[in-house]
Formats: sequence, C-alpha cells, structure tokens
Amino acid sequence: MLTRLLLFISLTVSAFAQQGVPNSPDWTKPFPPFKILGNIYWVGTWDLSSYLITTPQGNILINSGLAETVPLIKAGVEQLGFKMSDTKILMATHGHFDHVAGLADLQKMTGAKVVMSEEDVELLESGGKKDFRFGEEPRARFTPVKVDRKLKDGDKIELGGTVITAHHHPGHTKGATSFTLDVREAGKTYHVGIMNMASINPGVKVSGMPMFPGIAQAYAQTFHDQKEMKIDVWLASHAAQFGLHDKYKPGDPYNPERFVDPKGYHAAVEKLEKTYQDQLAAERKTK
Ligand SMILES: [Zn+2]
Repeated sequence: MLTRLLLFISLTVSAFAQQGVPNSPDWTKPFPPFKILGNIYWVGTWDLSSYLITTPQGNILINSGLAETVPLIKAGVEQLGFKMSDTKILMATHGHFDHVAGLADLQKMTGAKVVMSEEDVELLESGGKKDFRFGEEPRARFTPVKVDRKLKDGDKIELGGTVITAHHHPGHTKGATSFTLDVREAGKTYHVGIMNMASINPGVKVSGMPMFPGIAQAYAQTFHDQKEMKIDVWLASHAAQFGLHDKYKPGDPYNPERFVDPKGYHAAVEKLEKTYQDQLAAERKTK
C-alpha cells in the first residue's frame, strides 16, 4: 500500500514537474459558501480561496480563482444573499492564474476597482507573461486586467468602516501579499490574516532566478516578517494551506472561534521556511 502510494506520489510529482504548471481537480470542485467570521465569507471552490468581505458601502472580493470558477463565486455570493453588483474592490494575494484568471470577468461583471501589490501589477497587466517562473507557459496565461490602485507594504484598503492592511510578502511572486483586518464579534476582537503562504513552485530556484535575482532575500524577509505577526484567525490562498477541510464541514454551525489557530499558522510558516532553507542549501551545494 505504502509502495503504491509512494509510486502514485512520485508519478504525480513527475507529471507536475514535466508539465511545469501546477494543477489540481480540487481547484474547480465546488464548495458551499459559508460565513467564516463577522463580515468575512468563503465563496471559493474546494481548494481555491475566494473571500467576500461585506460592508455597508459595498463589498471586497479577494482572489478570483480561475476564469472557469467565476460562475461558482457568483453563485456563492448570491446564495449568501449578497449581490455581485455590490462588489466595489477586487484584490488578490498574488498574481498567479489560479488566483487571478477570473479577475477580468469579475471586473466586467461588477465594475469594481482592481487593487494589487505594485510588484505584481506587471503580472496582471501582461496576463501572466511577465511571471519569473511561468511566463513561457501558455497554460499559466490569463486575460490581462488593468490595475486601478497599486499597493505598497503597509497600505490600507478602506471601505464602509472595514480597514484592511496589505503586507508585502514576496518570494512566491514578486508582489505576493497578505491582508490583515480586525473583526469584532461577540465582544471580542479577532486579528484576521488572509496570508499568502510562501510556498515554492516546481522549477523555481530560490538561490536566484534570471527574472527575480533577489528571490532568496525576498523569501527570507517574508519568513522573518510572517513569524513576527500575531494572527488569531488564519486563512490563506489555498484551503489546504490552512486546513479548511479539517476545521470545517459543510453545514457546521457558525463559530467565530473555528479558524482561530495561531499555533497552526506559526508551524506552517516554520515548515515552509525549513523547505526553503533546505532547498537553498542544496542549490548552493550543486553550484
Ligand atoms: Zn501561486
């Protein structure tokens, strides 16, 4: 059984490496929308996170998923009783196709402003062609989208009394971004982090990429910064990264404490940092 499992994993991994561009059936698998905490809702698929943050002056949508998952997001928003036309701001944790390929359609549908880290603007506006790893891969391309507001580290996004802070966490892409906000619920304030976890894509050399020479330092800085952050409610770009399916099953009652997991967050950051350090050491040895 274990041998078969290992064989399966190695076949999957090599298929991945040959193809270069990650893919997963979990990305397009539907998942029922639900309330995460306060004014934050899950409207993503089984694995691709999309977060709807509602305010009295309109809503913010973080991460679009793929172009083909836009109808699932729309259905989720409406099932929760909200309107797509109330979407005022579209943002993303980073400019890879699995999080932004649906932005062009969503922008057309809602007329919302696209807000993105200044370092990932070229990715969005080139439809993925300027990516330091996947730029040559046709499967990683998407409909380009124009960015209305370019974020720097520490910038605030404000709408209807909700204030979101952008944190520049480069490495995975040049402009990878985490978002934090405070949500008050039942007399308690929760510090929520929609974190871009600093994973490394197949084919990336963390010691240096021709189009991203400073990648080693970028990752190191991100791990340093993420370890310093105090996060109560931990969310991320992919469901699997923060254990959504271990923490929540469809139909579970609303519980503001459900995604409170500071320990899990720190352990995940440290695990990714170890992977990075090991890979960096191995790359430097073979140079
Ligand atoms: Zn990515």
